[in-house]
Amino acid sequence: MITRRAECSCGQLSATCSGEPYRIAVCHCLACKRKTGSAFGFGAWFRQNDVTVEGNATEFVRVGDDGGRITNLFCAKCGGTVLWSIDKIPGVVAVSAGTFADLSFPPPTVSVYHESRRYPWVEISSEPLEKRG
Ligand SMILES: [Zn+2]
Ligand SMILES: [Zn+2]
Repeated sequence: MITRRAECSCGQLSATCSGEPYRIAVCHCLACKRKTGSAFGFGAWFRQNDVTVEGNATEFVRVGDDGGRITNLFCAKCGGTVLWSIDKIPGVVAVSAGTFADLSFPPPTVSVYHESRRYPWVEISSEPLEKRG
């Protein structure tokens, strides 16, 4: 079974993930822009049991548009968010897919908030791509 390791900029906080993610999504919401400092969020969802977190994670909890609580785990030293979970979707975690820094990582299959919050110059070209929101 394939194992991939995601880590923050300084390497202090890491998440080792076994198997393939069951969902890979890009998110164009404004909160993902603020969280990442980039144009969109890129998350790979795994079952919690398939992910081993090492290092010291600091938590930031944000309440989403639909009232769900999103718990972000980030490195207090370098500020990188490595993973997050949503209380309404128990048993799974999303890993910030860019933190794998792996160009062979599978492409996203879902795009959320596609039209309303997407920068007009961002085009996700992976196929198939289910567009939501
Ligand atoms: Zn770090
Ligand atoms: Zn988002």
